[in-house]
Amino acid sequence: MEKRAHNFFAGPAALPYEVLKKAQEELLDFKGMGVSVMEMSHRDKAFIAVAAEAEADLKKLLGLGDDYAVLFQGGGATHQFVMLPMNSLHAGDEADYIVSGNWAERAYEEGTIQGKANLVATSKTLAKPFSELPVVKQENMSPKAKYLHFCSNNTIYGTQFFENNYPKALPGVGLVCDMSSGFMSHTFDATKFDMIYAGAQKNIGPAGVTVIVLKKEWAQKVFTKKLPKSFDYNYQIKKESMFNTPPCFNIYITGLVFKWMLEMGGIPAMEKRNKIKADTIYGMIDKYPDFYRGYVTNKAHRSWMNVTFNLPTEALEEEFVKAAKAKNMLGLKGYRDLGGIRASIYNSTSPESVQFLADFMEEFKKSH
Ligand SMILES: *Cc1c(COP(=O)(O)O)cnc(C)c1O
Repeated sequence: MEKRAHNFFAGPAALPYEVLKKAQEELLDFKGMGVSVMEMSHRDKAFIAVAAEAEADLKKLLGLGDDYAVLFQGGGATHQFVMLPMNSLHAGDEADYIVSGNWAERAYEEGTIQGKANLVATSKTLAKPFSELPVVKQENMSPKAKYLHFCSNNTIYGTQFFENNYPKALPGVGLVCDMSSGFMSHTFDATKFDMIYAGAQKNIGPAGVTVIVLKKEWAQKVFTKKLPKSFDYNYQIKKESMFNTPPCFNIYITGLVFKWMLEMGGIPAMEKRNKIKADTIYGMIDKYPDFYRGYVTNKAHRSWMNVTFNLPTEALEEEFVKAAKAKNMLGLKGYRDLGGIRASIYNSTSPESVQFLADFMEEFKKSH
């Protein structure tokens, strides 16, 4: 068998082995056509079926029906930071934003360019920036807002909203979420959302495609600006992501990940697996809190996807990353602005890899 590392990269990140194997098998000859998915027209019925299945499987996973549209687009989640306010905010229009981390803040900044973006809550001003989820109060929200935007998982600092504390929008205000790094990591009611988007490269696929789930009725009502076609959500919905050439191969791989998730038992199975993984690593942090110093101060806010911690000195952190690498564990160095260690343990990361890391943490602590 080929050498496979224990993959803790934050994104692009691990993909399921079964998905890579399947893609490898089909690379030279997709379903007897004698070409790969990369080499066929996006208008060919074989590719149209690939995209349609990806969409149907995603809706099955999320429990969504025909009242929702799914788009697969390029440009990353960052592009959606711009698209959302661009489509919905006419001059003077308002939108509400919750800032729980860097990505949420970037979304907010794009909102301020297009209209009046209100900062409903932020945890940036804490002594340790973004070390907890912000306190969200409905009294700070505007009833005139077109939408309330939040980011479900803070990839960089390691906090996460779950179903029990997802912010609620005021009546008549759309609920929009950047779920890039936490998408389908735990069970939740997707019908509560008017828009969900996720760059694939964290939890569901390769970089280069972003999944956008839109409640059609809401999109019709709120996205009323006259825009160039490439930037117009409703036009993209009408053309079913095929206005121009979509990121075909990325859609195909993402579709394989959805199939893998369904085979594993869907989102409930992901939740179970992710809870075990998170408990394994946080267990080690809680066992040696003076050595492994968790960045997130409120345990209830800890992310199941990105575990962030420091060691007593930077030199020890460097040694930790180096020693882990020698044992075939990749991607543990913290985000460039934050430093420390970050273990990203998305859906695809196996419980075995996570246990391997926990055992290493135990061993490293004992020898230092
Ligand atoms: C990585 C990330 C982004 C940015 O994604 P790009 O595909 O690089 O644009 C946005 N939001 C969150 C939560 C992320 O983790």
